[in-house]
Amino acid sequence: MAHVRVNNARKDYGAFKAIKGVSVDIRDGEFVVLVGPSGCGKSTLLRMIAGLEGITSGDIQIGKHIVNDLAPKDRDIAMVFQNYALYPHMTVAKNMGFSLRLKRMPKAEIDRRVGNAAKILGLENLLERYPKQLSGGQRQRVAMGRAIVRDPAVFLFDEPLSNLDAKLRVQMRSEIKEMHQRLQTTTIYVTHDQIEAMTMADKIVVMKDGLIEQSGSPLELYDQPANLFVAGFIGSPAMNFIKGSMTNAGFRTTDGIVLPSGQHPAAAVTYGIRPEDIRLVQNGIAVETVVVEPTGSETMVIVRLGTQTVTCVFRERIRAAPGDVLHIAPADEAVHLFDKSGERIAR
Ligand code: ATP
Repeated sequence: MAHVRVNNARKDYGAFKAIKGVSVDIRDGEFVVLVGPSGCGKSTLLRMIAGLEGITSGDIQIGKHIVNDLAPKDRDIAMVFQNYALYPHMTVAKNMGFSLRLKRMPKAEIDRRVGNAAKILGLENLLERYPKQLSGGQRQRVAMGRAIVRDPAVFLFDEPLSNLDAKLRVQMRSEIKEMHQRLQTTTIYVTHDQIEAMTMADKIVVMKDGLIEQSGSPLELYDQPANLFVAGFIGSPAMNFIKGSMTNAGFRTTDGIVLPSGQHPAAAVTYGIRPEDIRLVQNGIAVETVVVEPTGSETMVIVRLGTQTVTCVFRERIRAAPGDVLHIAPADEAVHLFDKSGERIAR
């Protein structure tokens, strides 16, 4: 059993502040995803938890212990990296059992653990193969197997799927989630891919510039983003942001088009609406079609609203060509308003 607590942790590389005072609480058994753009510090934070980076100040607690001064091998964690370098001269079984042999665990126990992990990961028929005889997805599974056999208190994943092609990534992310449901081991997972974060996490921690912007369940972040950054980062295609100001009649865009907003806080200067929350309606706002992209199940349409562009996703097939006029309406209850500092104005 292990919860993980990061308490006001900082990491300086010389004058550069990579982590600027971050606190996170991770419950026992929770699957937490650290997400954010390149350079935001998510790998650094994970490596601080792993003990691969020292911390400049603050505390890291795993289970009952403050582990600031413990070596990685003494922290009861297992880490899976993006570059999961398997030993090329060892079979899958030997690769998976390697760390246990180092610990001089009895052979029968190693075989039992390797067999068990192979079963969980569907590697039973590949145990005698060498890494070069495996596909990318199979190699990634072996790398996870190496972590599972150690039966750690915490799994740490650093972008484990980023070397795989899109289809395999989708498959592996359900496998990792299934593995977590089965083993219930506390897991901290780093990715820059917000869809991976949305689909896998119990809790998402959104980072930017060495700080946490918001943390919460995937749907909390989607429905109640704290600010423009989180609103734009979570959700795909991204939320539309329309500039303007508030009037008693609704939100007036910089081109003078009035959009219904359901509420009229005077501080609102940005109107946010997700592409999937825009409907086609007769008597809606007339907009000019710029791009139409059918995906089969839905149609993405980029339209011009005055001088601003807006992305819409309609859950229907529509016949429209560039230049055509469509009539749209945002769903009132789905409008997000933001003030000058970028904070979302709560309803
Ligand atoms: P990515 O998705 O690109 O891996 P990240 O969010 O994981 O990004 P980190 O690798 O944690 O980012 O890096 C955070 C910041 O710290 C970056 O600006 C990076 O250049 C800097 N950094 C990381 N390691 C060092 C180091 N050893 N020395 C100096 N700066 C570093």
